[in-house]
Amino acid sequence: MTTTQVINPATEQVITTVEMADLAATDAAIERAHRAWAGWRTIAPGDRARLLRRFAEAVDADLDHLAELEVANAGHPITVARLEAANVRDVLQYAAGMPERLLGQQIPVDGGIDITFHEPLGVVGVIAAWNFPMPIAAWGFAPALAAGNTVVLKPAELTPLTALRLGELARQAGLPEGVFQVLPGEGPVVGQRFVTHPAVRKVVFTGSTGVGKRIMAGCAEQVKRVTLELGGKSPNIVFADADLERAAAAAPYGVFMNSGQDCCARSRILVQRSVFDRFLELLEPAVRRFRVGDPLDETTEAGPLISAAHRERVAGFVDPAAVAFTGERPDGPGFWYPPTVVLPSGPTERVFTEEIFGPVAAVLPFDDEAEAIHLTNDTEFGLAGSVWTRDLGRALRVSRAVEAGNLSVNSHLSTRYSTPFGGSKQSGLGRELGPDAALAFTETKNVFIATD
Ligand code: NDP
Repeated sequence: MTTTQVINPATEQVITTVEMADLAATDAAIERAHRAWAGWRTIAPGDRARLLRRFAEAVDADLDHLAELEVANAGHPITVARLEAANVRDVLQYAAGMPERLLGQQIPVDGGIDITFHEPLGVVGVIAAWNFPMPIAAWGFAPALAAGNTVVLKPAELTPLTALRLGELARQAGLPEGVFQVLPGEGPVVGQRFVTHPAVRKVVFTGSTGVGKRIMAGCAEQVKRVTLELGGKSPNIVFADADLERAAAAAPYGVFMNSGQDCCARSRILVQRSVFDRFLELLEPAVRRFRVGDPLDETTEAGPLISAAHRERVAGFVDPAAVAFTGERPDGPGFWYPPTVVLPSGPTERVFTEEIFGPVAAVLPFDDEAEAIHLTNDTEFGLAGSVWTRDLGRALRVSRAVEAGNLSVNSHLSTRYSTPFGGSKQSGLGRELGPDAALAFTETKNVFIATD
């Protein structure tokens, strides 16, 4: 085993060191999960539901602690980190309703009775990214457990602390040994073993599109199931008939929350030409008001970037000559980057086409609905997007025409635990959350019983 140092991105101080699993430890965890599956898959659905409810209660009792860990490890503002911990509780509570609602069908056939069952797959490997460590993990593990699978969760190397705490809470809640394990380690070691170990029947991956493609290719060797939640370059489309004040006031929240380290960040702001200048006039004070700073301050809206290397990568996208205006950022230690609004010269510039994963918004004008849709869809990504208009017909037309998994009208809300979430095109494969979340962790089995 090796160890890794966990850094607080707001102070650059080492918080703790964490053991990283090697190949042997990964195999041992997968085999433990496989043994545990024999019991977990056959446990009465009501008992599985009760254990998940107890897990949710344990998370609820630990909300403040989980939030403090995330503030220290990921630099998330305390108010946001509390919501993220509450999201884990809600996702678990919602999943606790699933074991008893995995309804099969009785299909009318000749000569007998035909029934379908939704059966669990086995061991599920969940690979999480560092940007929202708690929700990303829970969206994978909660429905997987509800459907009767066992889970090994690999948190991102940079952010293992809340995942480790969730593992402790699962044990406290009484989940049987081996049903839910947390295994910090390197992606190419632990995550890659999920891909190659035959006992792992599904991999849930959240991360970059490049690594996601390699995971999918690796899983193809065993026809292994995958859910992929990948990158995005989501649009925020503002039509001239929109409530411009509201659209401009909300735009910073669409792109700068979590300092832009959000796969759903509305980082391409498209504004109808007739209101372009007016929108920028309204946007500038809203960006300057956006509070980047001490994550422990209750009024802070976004914290630092995750690392010095990531800050350097973000800065590499920004041509100083194209910057229209920026917001504030603290001085001193911490991986700070100010909210930045850029006016690219056209839609082929990198700042407009590539996922930056930082607080950088590129604003471009468009002439009409057709051009807005063309600019929006002219990308390999298709995760999320927002449409601002007062015209209901246009709201529906544009929402249907945009190639993305999650659209919001006059809002930037992308996810709720009760509605499906995921990407189209190269932003992902499969859906998480929502009423069908557990079905993604099952195989449908058809049984015919002859009666004649
Ligand atoms: P990476 O793809 O580098 O890493 C994501 C996870 O995969 C980490 O746990 C990482 O481990 C692991 N990993 C890395 N290499 C391998 C490998 N060869 N085999 C198996 N696992 C591996 O992404 P980032 O950490 O940079 O995360 C940012 C990306 O995630 C962005 O592109 C963003 O858009 C995307 N994302 C998508 C979301 C969605 O729902 N669509 C949500 C959040 C983020 P390690 O930590 O050791 O590197």
